[in-house]
Amino acid sequence: MTFEQIKKLDTSSAMPTYGRFDAAFDRGEGATLWDVEGKKYIDFSSGIGVNSLGHRHPAWLAAVEGQLSRLAHTSNLYYNEATARLTDKLTSFCPQGSRVFMANSGAEANEGMIKLARKYSFDRYGEGRNEIISLKGSFHGRTLTTLSATGQDVFHQFFHPFTEGFVYADANMDSVESLVNERTCAVMFETIQGEGGVIPLDEGFLSELWRFARERDILLLADEVQTGIGRTGSLFSFPEFPDVFSLAKGLGGGLPIGAVVATEKCAEVLGPSTHGSTFGGNPVAAAGALAVLETVGNEEFLASVVKKGEYIRDGLKKRNLPVSEIRGRGLMLGIDIEGVEAKPLCAALLKNGLVSLTAKTSLRFLPPLVISYEEIDEGLDILKSTLEEMK
Ligand SMILES: *Cc1c(COP(=O)(O)O)cnc(C)c1O
Repeated sequence: MTFEQIKKLDTSSAMPTYGRFDAAFDRGEGATLWDVEGKKYIDFSSGIGVNSLGHRHPAWLAAVEGQLSRLAHTSNLYYNEATARLTDKLTSFCPQGSRVFMANSGAEANEGMIKLARKYSFDRYGEGRNEIISLKGSFHGRTLTTLSATGQDVFHQFFHPFTEGFVYADANMDSVESLVNERTCAVMFETIQGEGGVIPLDEGFLSELWRFARERDILLLADEVQTGIGRTGSLFSFPEFPDVFSLAKGLGGGLPIGAVVATEKCAEVLGPSTHGSTFGGNPVAAAGALAVLETVGNEEFLASVVKKGEYIRDGLKKRNLPVSEIRGRGLMLGIDIEGVEAKPLCAALLKNGLVSLTAKTSLRFLPPLVISYEEIDEGLDILKSTLEEMK
């Protein structure tokens, strides 16, 4: 099909929930994509942080194809080797006694994390201690409960009644403390707010938050859906293990997946019949995720992510681009460019062969973690020429 045929089919049949850009991709290799017309693009987006190993990574492809050709699904009524190996591998990076619940998306993982926090509190303290403090500017998903958890008013429209029991703090201790009361059971946060504009939380605030919450048995819930699995140059982005954290996007390497990881204190809170998911832990997705963890989960690989992040920062400087601010860590970067709006810039970049993202009013780069230096240079050259065009 031509691009126009695909676009017509889609726009006449899919709900108009997405403002799509004018491109339909056909194939990819590493951090390079080709659209249905054969035009080449450099991928600085990874399908919103999902394709952590880029496109058609040999280890990922072999794992997924191998599992797919044997068995695609059996449900959680039975054991499965791929899923068991994945949860074992994930916990091998976590403190002793940690456990995992497998889900299919970021929102579903966050739902599980919220359920876990409330049940932990119920088991220990009884009814009524169920309030969760989340942070203003956060993004936690599109289900009714994760919309409630999202600390942005624009998401709290149309769909009333939303799930109760969420209050919103500014990212500082004074604000968090002012919201704590006898009902508080958890604080939920992203260490770098992704959709909120690539806004890192202050490190001092995070360490204070850890101390404060630990003293009161208030659970720390880290939403690592965007920041997890090597994105920031460490396997997880938090300074210390929280009580519970959620994963999704980059974990699957391209297939839908989500995970709730609980450290020992919370590991057994979700007991028999308290939670479940038909597709959760799907063996094909699990086999791919295992290949992601085996590739990403070592010091050498993680150091390469840090180096590539620095290479992008240096590359922006070298090209004398009018950058007013760069935020983020590793290969999760939010960039403000003087006098240029992010949305039209992102569209112009796509036209010129660079796939990028926006986050609020910033340009956002989430390239595959395996992107080559040549691909980075090609992408930054497209950014430079596009900015010159837009002058
Ligand atoms: C993308 C994202 C989500 C939602 O994930 P879905 O897979 O779209 O449900 C939740 N939290 C954060 C931090 C995200 O970036």
